[in-house]
Amino acid sequence: MKDKKEITTVGDNHVLTSIKTPLRADAFEKTDAEKIEDIQFHFQKIMETLGLDLTDDSLSGTPYRFAKMYVQELFYGLDPANKPKLSVFENKYSYKKMLVEQQITINSACEHHFLPITGYAHVGYIPKDKVVGLSKINRLVDYYARRPQVQERLVLQILNDLQEALDTEDVIVSVTAKHLCVSSRGIKDQSSFTTTLEYGGRFYDAEIRQEFLNIVAQETL
Ligand SMILES: [Zn+2]
Repeated sequence: MKDKKEITTVGDNHVLTSIKTPLRADAFEKTDAEKIEDIQFHFQKIMETLGLDLTDDSLSGTPYRFAKMYVQELFYGLDPANKPKLSVFENKYSYKKMLVEQQITINSACEHHFLPITGYAHVGYIPKDKVVGLSKINRLVDYYARRPQVQERLVLQILNDLQEALDTEDVIVSVTAKHLCVSSRGIKDQSSFTTTLEYGGRFYDAEIRQEFLNIVAQETL
């Protein structure tokens, strides 16, 4: 275990250590029901340590609600079994210009503080021989968001999967989000938000990248 000062520094600097989410080898040996039971037990201990009286009607169900929320609602994107299948289709229309799926809702949590990250993702690609169903992009974004995250990693994970599925490097992903760990604690900055942008292939061309940025800067529908 690192010393406490270093732990705090890593969290406040939001250091990214790997593109893959660091998972234990035994990550999926327990069933979801077993995980909920374990987390419920430990969260009850946390609440009791904080001095809360769990015999109170309002608090008694919280450890279970918390555990169920972690496993089934906030962090289902840790389990590859929940990964959406990115079915691709032949590009029959020979559509060769940019396609942008924008304003995709992000509900995530920072892995350093387990506090919400909320905002939007914008995804663009220039099709070659394959296209993907639009809602599959939203589902992929949601899958990677629903795990303890670092925003830089989130865009890379989405980008890499789409590049592979679409068989092209010509993909761009941006995420603009607010981090509750920045607004509600630490520096307590209520107004700042964070944008991350990753791309490959033809998006290295500043003009093409600008076209994407102009599209996502549009007013919402
Ligand atoms: Zn954080």
